[in-house]
Amino acid sequence: MSNTIISVKNLTKQYQAEQAGGIKNISFDIQRGDVVAIIGESGSGKSTLLKTIFGLLKTDSGDVFFEDKRVLGPDEQLIPGHKQMKMVTQDFSLNIYAKVYDNIASQLSNTDLKTKTEKTLAIMEHLRILHLQNKKIIELSGGEQQRVAIAKAMVSDTQVLLLDEPFSQVDALLKNQLRADIKRVASETGVTVILVSHDPADGLFLADQLLIIKDGELLQTGKPADIYQHPKHIYTAQILGNAVVLSREDAEKIGLKTALEFVVFYPEWAEINNSWNSRRFEVKDVYYKGFYDELLVERKGVNIRALQLNRGEHKKNDHVQLNISHFLEF
Ligand code: ADP
Ligand code: MG
Repeated sequence: MSNTIISVKNLTKQYQAEQAGGIKNISFDIQRGDVVAIIGESGSGKSTLLKTIFGLLKTDSGDVFFEDKRVLGPDEQLIPGHKQMKMVTQDFSLNIYAKVYDNIASQLSNTDLKTKTEKTLAIMEHLRILHLQNKKIIELSGGEQQRVAIAKAMVSDTQVLLLDEPFSQVDALLKNQLRADIKRVASETGVTVILVSHDPADGLFLADQLLIIKDGELLQTGKPADIYQHPKHIYTAQILGNAVVLSREDAEKIGLKTALEFVVFYPEWAEINNSWNSRRFEVKDVYYKGFYDELLVERKGVNIRALQLNRGEHKKNDHVQLNISHFLEF
């Protein structure tokens, strides 16, 4: 049995007919309960895609289905979207002088006050903001406000939650926590999450399904690990893993043969070792990366980046043996 909750079919939305911008002929399905990450550079069309899925933007062509029901556009109904879809934008739309509790509870009707209280407290617990319930929004950090905005969006039987750049307001440490919490809340509540980010690290870590968008087009969709290992475009390998891209001529100079135009590999596929088939490179620079070093190494005028897990082992001007375990051809 298919468990598709959202189906996007041939969506096209151009802001100005002749100019670039918008999205072009995008189709994909989303499975119930999945966390879906839409990754692409700034201006690639991520927010446009999210808004059209939600029903906020009139499309040029194509449709979005929530289960089997077509999502109506802004010209077809007064309140856009489907009532079980909620979107959290970067401005949060919270009442900043009201308390956290009241911001969230305001989404529920007063016909059953006991249920209203229970649901509000439950979602606050899921988002780990119970201790903030009596604070006003203006007293909160950006990361805390983000959690309140998500709780508010989720409290009223929401089945699909759309998040536009949810990690942009939080610092690195809180970002890790928020990422893990979104994943946890999705699995605890069964809500389907569609999030947009310009930072691939956000998507790779938590997504069940990844979409790579470039210039308004969907380049590839699938599981993060599959896309990472088998990118269909050089761009995808670059945005996901900062891949090394060599022309055929350069690749040949360091002993990699291809019949195609380009050789592409991730720095971690280039390992320093001394096996019989490894080749000598000179270390040109060492970049400190925390628990590992990235080495810029050179051979016959070809520069590549490789990982050094044993931090500090090789220094600038050292000669190292390098083995490129495998590579992709384009
Ligand atoms: P992203 O969210 O990936 O940064 P957007 O979907 O916001 O990208 O924008 C995609 C492209 O469409 C950009 O080139 C942007 O300038 C253009 N665009 C977005 N919104 C509008 C609009 N309301 N009118 C005209 N062009 C727009
Ligand atoms: Mg955007």
